[in-house]
Amino acid sequence: MSDSAAGPMNDAAPGPDWTDADWGYETAAVQSGIPRGLGQTIGFPIHAAAAFQFDTLEQAQSEFQNNTGLSYARIQNPTTRALEARITALEGGADTVALASGQAATLTAILSVCRAGDHVVSASSLFGGTTGMLNNILPLMGISATLVDNTPDAVRAAMQDNTRLVWAEMISNPAGDIADIGPFAETAHERGALLAIDNTCGGVGYLCRPLDHGADMVAQSLTKWAGGHGSVMGGSVTVGTRHDLTRNPIYTEGGENSVLKVRGDNALAWRQRWLGASQLGMTLAPHSAFLIAQGLETLALRMARECETALELAQWLQAHPRVGHVSYPGLADHPFHAQAQRYLGNGSGAVLAFEVPDPAAFLSRLRVLRVAPNLGDVRTLVVHPWTTTHGRVPEAARHAAGVTPQTIRMSVGVEGVADLKADIAAAL
Ligand SMILES: *Cc1c(COP(=O)(O)O)cnc(C)c1O
Repeated sequence: MSDSAAGPMNDAAPGPDWTDADWGYETAAVQSGIPRGLGQTIGFPIHAAAAFQFDTLEQAQSEFQNNTGLSYARIQNPTTRALEARITALEGGADTVALASGQAATLTAILSVCRAGDHVVSASSLFGGTTGMLNNILPLMGISATLVDNTPDAVRAAMQDNTRLVWAEMISNPAGDIADIGPFAETAHERGALLAIDNTCGGVGYLCRPLDHGADMVAQSLTKWAGGHGSVMGGSVTVGTRHDLTRNPIYTEGGENSVLKVRGDNALAWRQRWLGASQLGMTLAPHSAFLIAQGLETLALRMARECETALELAQWLQAHPRVGHVSYPGLADHPFHAQAQRYLGNGSGAVLAFEVPDPAAFLSRLRVLRVAPNLGDVRTLVVHPWTTTHGRVPEAARHAAGVTPQTIRMSVGVEGVADLKADIAAAL
């Protein structure tokens, strides 16, 4: 990891010796972010603290002016900072801010480059909470959004002079669209906008690292595969190194005192921490950071197994006489199969969707699969998106997101595949 990746945030934050740019994913997942040396813990220490001490008035003054070090835990905490270093390493980024939920990450990512009068273009195949944010929350702040088909042509056609951000999900939930990151980034950059990818279903860089393909930031829910056990909520925004902010007035206004002049290469990461943590207070608790960091240590093992099981179940469901359409990007007939092959390594994700004749009866008969609105749990979870996760989404947008009244979404866990098949077959 480069110096900027380690973050010049403070002395207690992870430094370059806490991680290594040469480590592969599985090694970085268990080794990065942990300080080395005599008496240091093997895992992450939890810093249960609201505030940190200063030795001198000058130190206190500098921290309050710069908001970059340890002063008050709404802004930074060493446990959370260590988690951030780990996520930065796994996504191949420059810096990360961890926040209280995926929703907090989405809002922070958008507000970091948009203000009243600005515009967002997003692929419409989205998590329901993101659709709600774009349609209902951003207008409260005078920011508008256009939701379009998940193709480079549709995104290009929707770009306006005031578009500051293009948004898409790496693997959309539940349709399984795959973001065409390269052309999306090109389109955004031509207009001086940035590209943000929601990598929640990409498993914190395990299936895909969007920054490697030209995205400028990665926002994600850590509640899902990062936590991995349905026991904690969190989110994060990771920035890369190549973003160009010189055409965004938020960063350039103010001449010598502009955010870009004062913060330099750290401007985007600095503003995200200032917005999401310091000002909006959507801070991740250190105990949650610990659970998420621990979850990341087995993400590769879990996700590899889950992807394998998901493909086997998708093929089996496709051949089942009582099952309608099956949607999984690992299947050859999926509209985004070729794009999945291009952008995803290690598998095609752990989420699939399939249609059953009577969703209510199906869900009530399950004994192994649990009915719950989460993803990435070690247990296989199913939900009826039409009435739950996408219940408040306008009907046309539900269809655009691949949701019909018959659709069941399944997040595949690590149970034995034979038990899953038996349970599904009995419920059908
Ligand atoms: C769950 C989810 C979110 C929101 O995350 P929370 O942690 O629930 O706030 C955002 N994007 C996607 C793709 C998700 O699945």
